[in-house]
Amino acid sequence: MRYAIEGGTIVTPDDILRNKKIIVNNDVIEDITENAAGVDYTLKLEDSSLIFPGLINAHDHLLGTYYPRIGFGPYLNWLPWDNDLKECPLYEERSAISNFDLYLLGSYRNIVSGVTTVSDHIPHSVNAPFIDKLPMRVLWDYGMQHECVSFDLRWGGSMSDEHKYALDNDLPFLTHIEEGYDEEATLGIEILQEMKVLDDHSVLVHGISLSKQDITAIAKAKANVVWCPTSNYFMFKDTTNIRELLKQNVNVSLGTDSPMSGGMNLLEEMQFAVNLYWQLYKEKLDYKTLVQMVTTHPAKAFRQKKLGKIEVGYTADFTILKNGNPSDPYESLIQSWLENIRLVISGGVPLYGVAGDKDFFGKFEKEYQILKISGEDRLLIGQPENLYERIWENVKFKKVLPFLPVDIYE
Ligand SMILES: [Zn+2]
Repeated sequence: MRYAIEGGTIVTPDDILRNKKIIVNNDVIEDITENAAGVDYTLKLEDSSLIFPGLINAHDHLLGTYYPRIGFGPYLNWLPWDNDLKECPLYEERSAISNFDLYLLGSYRNIVSGVTTVSDHIPHSVNAPFIDKLPMRVLWDYGMQHECVSFDLRWGGSMSDEHKYALDNDLPFLTHIEEGYDEEATLGIEILQEMKVLDDHSVLVHGISLSKQDITAIAKAKANVVWCPTSNYFMFKDTTNIRELLKQNVNVSLGTDSPMSGGMNLLEEMQFAVNLYWQLYKEKLDYKTLVQMVTTHPAKAFRQKKLGKIEVGYTADFTILKNGNPSDPYESLIQSWLENIRLVISGGVPLYGVAGDKDFFGKFEKEYQILKISGEDRLLIGQPENLYERIWENVKFKKVLPFLPVDIYE
């Protein structure tokens, strides 16, 4: 299908475009123009709508999609947190839900907050059976290692094999790094250097104990960093040296981590990032930079050459806000909550929107259900209602997860 998106302000996100229409041809942005003649359908937006590229959540563990958070930190490193998690009754409650349903729940948690692409930090053997069946884009190919410490969870093959796989196939090499303060954790960057796996394919998550020299080494190697402030602060009452990373022009992306340690969703994560930055440095984190941390920066880190921007030839992924402020769209995104997400489109196909867009959704051969989310009727792809029913049957009560706040129906 070939359709036009008309009205609102386009945030590419490097530039702000007004009075332009986006022409979508199947899954691609065909044109950004003033003339939209001859399209099959025109989606008309209100003037206060803001059109961003589909947001990218640079770090999640979809299998860990549950709530509330668990932890009795601050911890020395991630291992005692992992032990606390696995021993708590909530973990048992979560385990009553099938892995596929946790993946579905994780997808919906991301979609309703405007995320169209997520990086799921887990070995291929776990997520490979699910990825094709999920309602959103989960990055499916990468080299990976849990973390380069002797007590890591042995995810993936050997560090050098996984890194070589990434290099040979133009893929990212993902690893947690320095998530703690013990001697081994603080040597993370030195270990990567020694093993010759620190380069522009490396995507390093957390980095709580990164020193200034570590950051210089990361910058020199053009490696990428993923910042998960909520999760870091919850587990360690601390986070990475984000100001120094930005000062040294490291490509930093933002990630939520799982909601059992991290942010409710990427929207909350952005707000927390702003607040924590202020608390740490008494300086304002630049809003445009923060928006780039959920669009262009992760696209670069994960080597996704057609994602993260609204530009001709790019994949038609959009996160559209309602009631935004066109004179400061970056601030509008950062201050948004679930009710501000008007429409989420991935590969040209709507995933989530307001009930008033039923006609538009009807043009696609997909299944949608109408749910009341935060008091408003919403269209959501797939069968989210059935998912909640299965979860309730499994956990034996009507659990509602706050990151997918459906109004309970009898
Ligand atoms: Zn993680």
